[in-house]
Amino acid sequence: MANKAIVWIRDDLRVSDNSALLYANLNHDKVSAIYIFNKENFDNKREAQKWWISKSLESFKEDLDKFNINLELIISEEVKFFSEIKHKDISIYWNKVYEPMQLDLDKKISKILNNKNIEYKFFKGNVLNEFQTIKKKDGTPFKVFSPFWRHAEPIYLDRIPKKEKGLIKLQEKIDLFKSDSRPNNILPVKKWYKKFENYWRVSERESQIQLQKFLKDRILNYGTNRDFPSLNGSSKLSPYIRNGQLNVNNIWRNCSNVKTKNIGIRKYLNELGWREFSHSLINNFPEMLKGNLRKEFDKFPWVKNKKNLNAWKKGLTGYPIVDAGMRQMYETGWMHNRIRMVVGSFLVKHLRIDWKEGEKHFRNCLLDFNEANNVAQWQWVAGCGADAAPYFRIFNPILQGEKFDKNGDYVKKWVPELKNYPARFIHKPWELEDKFQKSINTIIGKDYPKPIVIHENARKDALDAFQSIKK
Ligand SMILES: Cc1cc2nc3c(=O)[nH]c(=O)nc-3n(C[C@H](O)[C@H](O)[C@H](O)COP(=O)(O)OP(=O)(O)OC[C@H]3O[C@@H](n4cnc5c(N)ncnc54)[C@H](O)[C@@H]3O)c2cc1C
Repeated sequence: MANKAIVWIRDDLRVSDNSALLYANLNHDKVSAIYIFNKENFDNKREAQKWWISKSLESFKEDLDKFNINLELIISEEVKFFSEIKHKDISIYWNKVYEPMQLDLDKKISKILNNKNIEYKFFKGNVLNEFQTIKKKDGTPFKVFSPFWRHAEPIYLDRIPKKEKGLIKLQEKIDLFKSDSRPNNILPVKKWYKKFENYWRVSERESQIQLQKFLKDRILNYGTNRDFPSLNGSSKLSPYIRNGQLNVNNIWRNCSNVKTKNIGIRKYLNELGWREFSHSLINNFPEMLKGNLRKEFDKFPWVKNKKNLNAWKKGLTGYPIVDAGMRQMYETGWMHNRIRMVVGSFLVKHLRIDWKEGEKHFRNCLLDFNEANNVAQWQWVAGCGADAAPYFRIFNPILQGEKFDKNGDYVKKWVPELKNYPARFIHKPWELEDKFQKSINTIIGKDYPKPIVIHENARKDALDAFQSIKK
């Protein structure tokens, strides 16, 4: 075995529970970690995540320094980089990322390294189960969540991994590629990301702090509070999980240690199950990354309407709960789960705009964007995915607002134009009489838009469109 090792870091920016890093650390005298930033995967696609990754690299570098492991940022393209590697006396390690393109990349890189006679090894990535291990009795993949999870959870519990050992401090630090790229170099050109700094602290340490706070204060009521966007009811750990500050095994272990077992914990672990299900779906049915899983939706008469699409993106649809969600995402890089469903449904059903437009926009704006969850959930909302909400079930944005944001606290936070509206009208402000609109200095159509579509008409048009694909 060579005495030097490279650990290729992707979505695993952490020192604990990082199998590839630990293996290199325990078996080699000198270890260098590299992060390859491939612009092709980010520019105009994952702009928000550039900020998170840039910050992660800064803190991860500091964490690795404590073990005399260098973190080198390489701005290149993966195949090119590994093809050009000159070092011979070296071993290379990485953790898997469960996206078809990344698994394909693993194969390409393995081939290159085989040809160069360079030793390499890769490890299980950030999932509970490898997706290939979860199959129905007849060997085919699951398309419905409940049986999938009923089958997958016991398999995981049967071989739940032990906590990994900690890293040891190496004698000497090495600088293999003398890269002069710095985390700042990958930040988006447009500085809108600056606002994210008010909402997030990005480091592995912070992910643990947030996890412990959630387990201590919020998980017991998670089952009920998670649905109300004005409450801090969910974990908000998704960006840490997505970028690998947190390993899902670590979360599971911590949840198992909570003394009072109750429905909140079950519900929370169930959500991690949905994440597993999404990963299983996109790998078993990779065609869904490009189009509808349910082929009958290929005939769906989507509407191309740039004006409505832009109104949706900017949070100017005239439906307060939709607009609040879109603005929350633009301001913070994150959106509440229920509201993701509401804004998603509004785009594909009220506006009848192709779900791929929404998926693309979320991909660019979410700090937790994850190909598996995003594509699977958009198709779930649109009705064309696995175990999806039926297309004919159309969320009414007024009733959703009244049910989950009764007093309008969430709307008032993100749509401050409506802060003086009485709760009764907060989700249908156009119904407030003109004289009262004047008295609170917020005129609908002037200070806040009129609804861009009328709910009842939009609903009918959506149902007609749905009938047309059934013929
Ligand atoms: C249209 C749409 C797009 C979405 N896009 C993404 C995305 O790109 N990335 C992403 O991580 N989640 C996505 N989700 C799922 C969900 O909204 C987020 O995971 C959740 O809001 C993150 O907040 P949290 O960490 O507080 O979640 P919690 O409620 O605390 O859940 C715990 C964890 O479970 C996972 N999870 C929760 N809900 C889901 C779900 N429905 N499907 C799969 N995994 C889930 C996440 O990793 C999350 O961090 C999307 C949902 C919808 C409706």
